[in-house]
Amino acid sequence: MKLSCGIVQDLLPLVVEGLSGEQSRAAVMEHVTACPECRRIQLQLEQDSVPEIVPQVPLQAVKNQIAAKRRRTVVAAVGLVLSVVFCVFARLTEPVWLPYSDDLLTVDTLESGDLLVTVSQPHAGIAIEHTGGEMTLSIWKNALSPQNEREIVVIPYEELGSALYYADFAGEDTLIWGNVQTDGQQTLPRLVMGYYLVMAAGMAVILGILAAVCRKTKIGKLMFYIWLAPASYIIAHFGVMGLSTVTADTVRPLGWILAAAASLYLAAVSFIRLVWHKQ
Ligand SMILES: [Zn+2]
Repeated sequence: MKLSCGIVQDLLPLVVEGLSGEQSRAAVMEHVTACPECRRIQLQLEQDSVPEIVPQVPLQAVKNQIAAKRRRTVVAAVGLVLSVVFCVFARLTEPVWLPYSDDLLTVDTLESGDLLVTVSQPHAGIAIEHTGGEMTLSIWKNALSPQNEREIVVIPYEELGSALYYADFAGEDTLIWGNVQTDGQQTLPRLVMGYYLVMAAGMAVILGILAAVCRKTKIGKLMFYIWLAPASYIIAHFGVMGLSTVTADTVRPLGWILAAAASLYLAAVSFIRLVWHKQ
């Protein structure tokens, strides 16, 4: 069957896309092999029918969204795991004070006048503090072995002052060496961790109210993100110290609480952004 160029060129798009019937296809191909003009148009159509490239920008945006989602998921998971690890490690290394008992330690005066303190508890650490002219001593243990593990300590005569007490955080200190009897000496545990907790709770309440009042606005959203900081601190405090707020040493628990709170905050922010972006 002989076809005119006009008919062939009408049919070519269907043939190139594979939508034509077998008979038209055969006829068109026959014509095309003999007609350079229609051949040229066929080649042109074949080039154009290469799958259309999806515009670059929207694809990149989708890719970015997927990457951000993955990143937030990872940060949320890692932050949560880290905060738990910090709390557990803080608990295991938490020094536990041993109350005074007669068999806890012995104190010997050396010829030089120095004091030799020997602790009967294995893996205990001795903590010594100067308070005015006197010196207090206390013994601590933890679940893991303490770094400065000492079972014997020599207190030089010059540093000794007039008396050596065993610090009793539950009541009056016990005089364990000295010729002066001072009544009613007390060593109090530090309460500053409790103040930090109250401050964090106060900030959480104020920011929480602001976030609730301004919700649905950008400021409300920002307040909510800021509110997460004291909230993380409070949770980290309970994770590291439990319900207790008293401590003999403030640097150690504060360090662990801040580390756990920072991880928790990162995890919370990532998780919330993940949830909000889904909507
Ligand atoms: Zn032709």
